[in-house]
Amino acid sequence: MVRLVLVGPPGAGKGTQAAVLSEKLEVPHISTGDLFRANIGNSTPLGQKAKSYIDAGELVPDEITNQMVRERLAEPDAKKGFLLDGYPRNIAQADVLAGILSENDYELTAVLQFDVPEEELVRRMLERGRSDDNEDVIRRRLAVYHEETEPLLDYYRDLVVKIDAVGAVEEITARALEAVKSRS
Ligand code: ADP
Repeated sequence: MVRLVLVGPPGAGKGTQAAVLSEKLEVPHISTGDLFRANIGNSTPLGQKAKSYIDAGELVPDEITNQMVRERLAEPDAKKGFLLDGYPRNIAQADVLAGILSENDYELTAVLQFDVPEEELVRRMLERGRSDDNEDVIRRRLAVYHEETEPLLDYYRDLVVKIDAVGAVEEITARALEAVKSRS
């Protein structure tokens, strides 16, 4: 049973790796970015609230995000473990997650840190061309990562395993699986 948190800057390839790892480890992939995009696609009230923040490269307010994750983790499939991709993204969210985990008697297995040099991140995102991947928004998302998300690496210092996330997708998956093994 594994319970993982993936941390890394935008463009680090967390989503790609999370999809593969979730299959290999047989746990659900819970991506807040994907959940927001699905809500935006379906024009739900949650999607309407989240859209302007996402398009500006800002974090969606914590109340909205925390509630969405709390509901997702309450679904039955999360009982067999999970892989959180894009959450928590700041210390306040990490505190809420700690509460959810302790209410359920869950412990995190590891926090995987995806490490990629900044020039490579920008190059990848411009290539990907998602609607929030224009240059100004990318710059803002990177700044938000440094200001808000990077402090999580200290918060989770006892759980963090750093993964070199430059290379072929399969190579990085192998490194991530090795990291999980080292912690389980
Ligand atoms: P990336 O990792 O490339 O930034 P994501 O798909 O993880 O892409 O996130 C896209 C956007 O969704 C973020 O820029 C942010 O606006 C919003 N978002 C995702 N996760 C969170 C979160 N935990 N808290 C607040 N906003 C979030």
